[in-house]
Amino acid sequence: MSRCYNFGAGPAMLPESVLRKAQDALWDIGTGAGILETSHRSAYFDAMMDALHAQFRRIAAIPEDYDLMFLQGGATLQFCQIPATFARPGDTIDCIHTGFWTRNAMRDAAFYAKIHYAYDGAVSNFQHIPRDDEIHYSASPAYVYYCANNSFLGTEFRRPPKTDFPLVADMSSNILSRPIDVRAHSLIFASAQKNLGIAGCCVIIIRRGFLDTCPDAPSMFNYKRLVQNRSMLNTPPTFALYIMKLMLDWIDEHGGLEAVERHNRTKAAIIREAIDDTRGFFTHVGEPESRSMMNISFHAPTPELDAKFVSQAETLNMTGLRGHRETGGLRASVFNAFPVEGCEKLAECIRRFARENA
Ligand SMILES: *Cc1c(COP(=O)(O)O)cnc(C)c1O
Repeated sequence: MSRCYNFGAGPAMLPESVLRKAQDALWDIGTGAGILETSHRSAYFDAMMDALHAQFRRIAAIPEDYDLMFLQGGATLQFCQIPATFARPGDTIDCIHTGFWTRNAMRDAAFYAKIHYAYDGAVSNFQHIPRDDEIHYSASPAYVYYCANNSFLGTEFRRPPKTDFPLVADMSSNILSRPIDVRAHSLIFASAQKNLGIAGCCVIIIRRGFLDTCPDAPSMFNYKRLVQNRSMLNTPPTFALYIMKLMLDWIDEHGGLEAVERHNRTKAAIIREAIDDTRGFFTHVGEPESRSMMNISFHAPTPELDAKFVSQAETLNMTGLRGHRETGGLRASVFNAFPVEGCEKLAECIRRFARENA
């Protein structure tokens, strides 16, 4: 059986080169042992972590006064670790609410602080990413929180919101899909299984001045101790880190983030244009300026036709196109490693399906 094109929202497809290297590394990394059996305190792993830090910093253009961490617990652990660290009792967190992921994050943050919705996307049914003049901050929030790409519905910020307060971003589903304005943020976090490799690892980029405000806390909740110990207070997710290193090599081979962005724009455009060509049979989700480059959400005229499209695509070896269980509809997630040939194949399927079912 041949491999399929997986349009699922994560874990996402990996480049063939990464999978082949990982296969070899399971057996022997050149030390007589496989990567899964290698100590995180070994010379091999130590050197790999140095290289991973340096390469990530270079590719993401992380300024000198920012630290980088690789933690466990996915992005979801950060939903509570961040407010537990940066909000004091009585504090307010300002949230730019764009849907499912900010809702979940604020549900956890509400254990630690009051939540002020500086923008509430519910008024547009989350079809709209706000302009700066639509966001109304409270007097002195501990920080401002937003989700850079709402993978759930397929909407994305073109640039970070403007604010003088510390800005915290969930970039789980668009990190390293294009250059990042790190300086606009005090903290960026992202789980790995969309653009950076496999599940089990979460990247944190944090401004040192913000890090300095962390109160003392138990080890695994203590960002300062985690930074001081290069994220290795305990056994890190060694395989996930190894795969991330291979993903960064892949980004370098592709010419860095500008090239990756061009590639991602092309991929999204192929699918969006096919949707447009069906002249209203398929409909985009999200206002034009708010649409995501990573998650293309759309739907057919009826839920029955959505389901029929999903099954038809499956017979053609394309999987994961069913929309999120809460929204229905269709969603094509085309993260960094998703190949352009898969987008062309989906575009063809969209055009044909519309012709046959209109
Ligand atoms: C996938 C995703 C998450 C959840 O990541 P986990 O690693 O499963 O906790 C959070 N935020 C966004 C925007 C996502 O796309």
